[in-house]
Amino acid sequence: MDRFTKIVASIGPSCESKDILRQMILAGVDVCRLNFSHDTGETQGHKIDIIREISTELNKPVAIMIDLQGPKHRIGVFKTEEKYPLVPGQIFTFDSNPKPGDSKRVCLPDADVLRSLKPGERILLNDGKIEMQVVSAEPTSVQATVIRGTEIWSRRGFNLPDTNVETSVLTEKDRADLEYALTKQPDWVAVSFVQRPEDIAEVRDFITQRVSYPIKIMAKIERGNAVDRLSEIASAADGIMIARGDLAVELPFERVPAISRHIIRECRKLNRPVIMATQMLGTMVNSEFPTRAEISDVANTSYLRADAGMTSEETTIGSNPLNVIETMNKIMTYSDEDALHNPYDWLRVENAPENDWSRSVSSMAFLNKAVAIIVFARDTNTATQISCRRSDIPIIAVCDNMLIANQLCLSRGVIPMYEPDLFAPRDAFNAARSVGITSGNLVIVDEDKISLRKLD
Ligand code: PEP
Repeated sequence: MDRFTKIVASIGPSCESKDILRQMILAGVDVCRLNFSHDTGETQGHKIDIIREISTELNKPVAIMIDLQGPKHRIGVFKTEEKYPLVPGQIFTFDSNPKPGDSKRVCLPDADVLRSLKPGERILLNDGKIEMQVVSAEPTSVQATVIRGTEIWSRRGFNLPDTNVETSVLTEKDRADLEYALTKQPDWVAVSFVQRPEDIAEVRDFITQRVSYPIKIMAKIERGNAVDRLSEIASAADGIMIARGDLAVELPFERVPAISRHIIRECRKLNRPVIMATQMLGTMVNSEFPTRAEISDVANTSYLRADAGMTSEETTIGSNPLNVIETMNKIMTYSDEDALHNPYDWLRVENAPENDWSRSVSSMAFLNKAVAIIVFARDTNTATQISCRRSDIPIIAVCDNMLIANQLCLSRGVIPMYEPDLFAPRDAFNAARSVGITSGNLVIVDEDKISLRKLD
């Protein structure tokens, strides 16, 4: 296996044609992310159909992750489309009055948000370029002092880093989007602006009331209060996305690398796949080559042993999405290989007792110089747990269920195979051969039995 770290590609206008998608999947895409903040309904459904077609034609599992917009807040419109001046120190009002705004006030359409704001809390608009602090708050009107920023205009998004917003994690739009998406059987659903474990339970309830198959839920960590409750949220969810875009607005940006490391370690302990997301190769929207800093960011995702790195605008609206995937593949492949030859203990994660058996499998594979660990996977648990031990020995997960094969596309070092015929006779040697392994020791995990066999 050349690359252990998986690639999640955001799909958008630049890469929606079947031909480009096929090339990207051949170049290394493991998971396709469809962002419902932009397109919805049939437009996304069509993309799902195309990805499934390619996956079948190539006989290569590819996971589909739909990403719900979530409660992303925006202010209302102003009297004109112009920018309105702001002066640091002035008072600006947010209220429930729908009439267009001016340089003193604007409508804040979310009643839940207005009700949640308290004096002393910050309001960060336009990716944090405007900062205000609440000085007085009533249920339908909030006054804030301008701390930073010189102009404001219609429909700016805003973040509330200090506020616990008492609102459902699923907006009306999310409910409609999810309702539709479930008819297309996605493998993963990513939930935006999660604040608490109950948010995940709410989404799981919504899903289980509508479909009976086990869709995985990815919690996007992009709020400070979600970082504070990381373990509970990760335990409630099936995977975590480090959504660095909003996270670096909600929290001081210098904290984001430390938080990312912490999240990766915590996810490994809890056996949850973890994605590093946002601006990984951002300059490649227009450029043929990544910056040196971007190369390091992708490499560090591999060295930190995250499960996956994710592309954003560079594949959705970039000039050459295939080049982006080839670039990410090249950097991760090199770094994964280097980490194999130059292992450093400082990345060890302490073991939780329930992980003992998977640690034993990894050690057995390591001590016997195994070329692969073969797991007969009826669900994702066994392969995911071994993956989370990061033994750097490929894990071939033979699945008799396509959903399980797709979902395992996100787990580091796992080569999922949908092979019901191999599964039936428990044919580990053929499974190994079908990924090009012709000799060496194999560790075979079949239900509760773990064995060591030699393939000559
Ligand atoms: C992010 O904020 O980093 C992120 C991935 O979320 P979105 O792209 O949905 O804003």
